[in-house]
Amino acid sequence: MSKTDYNVDICIIGAGSAGLSIASGAAQLGRSVVLYEANEMGGDCLNSGCVPSKSIIAAGKAAHAQTSGDKYGIQPVSPKVDFDAVKAHVQGVIEQIAPVDSQERFEGLGCTVIREYAHFTDRKTVESKSSRVKAKRFVIATGSRASAPPIPGLDKTPYLTNETIFEVDRLPEHLIIIGAGPIGFELGQTFRRLGSEVTIIDVAAPLGHNEPEHAKVLIEALESEGVKFITPAKTKEIKKKKYKTKSGVSLKLEDGTKIDGSHLLVAAGRTPALDRLDLEKAGVKYDKRGIDTDDALRTSNPKVYAAGDVVKGMGGLTHAAGFHAGQLIKNFYFMPPLLGQFFAKAVIDRMPAAIYSEPELANIGLSEKDAREKYGEDIKTVSWAFEENDRAIAERKTEGGLKIIATKKGKVLGASVVGEGAGEIIQMLSLAMSNGVKISGLAQFISPYPTRTEIVKRAAGSWYTDTIFSDKTRKLAGILTKFQ
Ligand SMILES: Cc1cc2nc3c(=O)[nH]c(=O)nc-3n(C[C@H](O)[C@H](O)[C@H](O)COP(=O)(O)OP(=O)(O)OC[C@H]3O[C@@H](n4cnc5c(N)ncnc54)[C@H](O)[C@@H]3O)c2cc1C
Repeated sequence: MSKTDYNVDICIIGAGSAGLSIASGAAQLGRSVVLYEANEMGGDCLNSGCVPSKSIIAAGKAAHAQTSGDKYGIQPVSPKVDFDAVKAHVQGVIEQIAPVDSQERFEGLGCTVIREYAHFTDRKTVESKSSRVKAKRFVIATGSRASAPPIPGLDKTPYLTNETIFEVDRLPEHLIIIGAGPIGFELGQTFRRLGSEVTIIDVAAPLGHNEPEHAKVLIEALESEGVKFITPAKTKEIKKKKYKTKSGVSLKLEDGTKIDGSHLLVAAGRTPALDRLDLEKAGVKYDKRGIDTDDALRTSNPKVYAAGDVVKGMGGLTHAAGFHAGQLIKNFYFMPPLLGQFFAKAVIDRMPAAIYSEPELANIGLSEKDAREKYGEDIKTVSWAFEENDRAIAERKTEGGLKIIATKKGKVLGASVVGEGAGEIIQMLSLAMSNGVKISGLAQFISPYPTRTEIVKRAAGSWYTDTIFSDKTRKLAGILTKFQ
């Protein structure tokens, strides 16, 4: 079959969060674009990541609400879960969002969309079954997929990943999850709320990179709903075994414990999608953790860039992929060519992240431990608990709180929030860190009462409690009053 030749400004491999944002930016600036996608337009986030997970979480919350109204005087009832209808709700949400990521929309913007696998044939050419592309720049945005941990027997046992869990045949009677990370927490809690027994196993302690007191709140919340954690624990063997009368799995842990379940979900980290790209032919350096880039996302081949989950150390977030896209567009089309040494940095230390369980856990920047390692004694932390927030009290959702980590001069280095709305509240800290707003600025904004986000102002205000209400200021206030 003869191939169609293209010579374009930019060729993007992968139409997920990163690739789509770059394609739309470039096309709207009048650039010629070829966009390759081998599977569904929209990538992981739309089809098997953020969107379905947040949709099923909403179903879990609705079920949980029926069982937890007694604190408001509403008698709890046992929810009747129609799992097929839950799956239809999830698919409905995907379908509602899909047009924004669709081939039609991108063709409408002027992109050439090719629904095939693409790979490099040399340092300046990409090919697929039906096409051959030369471009001024190439962007690899092929994303990631669920890692398969090296556990004996896993390769011979049917298991679920984020690509299959949202279409699982029936509500799992007992869902065993390998991996106590964000996916394990979100889906573990949700399936428990929908009626499954859930066991989460991990080789490491859960949420180890978070503020320990905040991680504890979340773990205890899941445990109180009946999610069982077995951590840290090494799985020695996995095999197929009938669960009651149906198919199932059996896990043997290193200490001899055996756990039988109806379904196994593997959510133990992500592997960059690099196979099929023939990166050696392009002279692009990579290893199993991802593609090597500099801070401007340039690879070892000056014509080739990488963006999103496929970039080494970029830790799987849609908004990180979107940020990469924005920085690349700036660098490609808004930086004067002779000022090549000036570029918009895409690798930053203030990327927020959130786990959308109930309560939520969100963080940004350095943890207190990391800040102490980096800055020694030149740091100060302030905290505020939802127990002292009137809205949280009114809604009887007082678990958790906020911690801000800053230099002694008040520069915000990081923050963590656990509690209802943590993913929203962290945005204040993200805004502060992006714009150099110090603790003093966070103490001064006017917050509508009563809102949960008030804790940002209260925590920041507590930075000054000792100085404002000291003996010295009391004396000063006394003197000034005399002259009024
Ligand atoms: C269960 C789950 C929940 C998540 N929830 C959140 C969340 O709440 N918030 C958040 O920020 N992030 C979340 N994420 C992470 C988020 O989905 C990813 O960070 C994001 O999708 C990465 O975007 P990307 O463009 O790098 O890759 P992807 O979205 O994976 O897109 C890559 C695309 O490239 C295509 N492709 C690969 N190789 C080729 C090839 N050779 N030729 C052509 N096409 C190719 C793939 O088919 C894919 O469509 C979640 C992930 C999972 C798994």
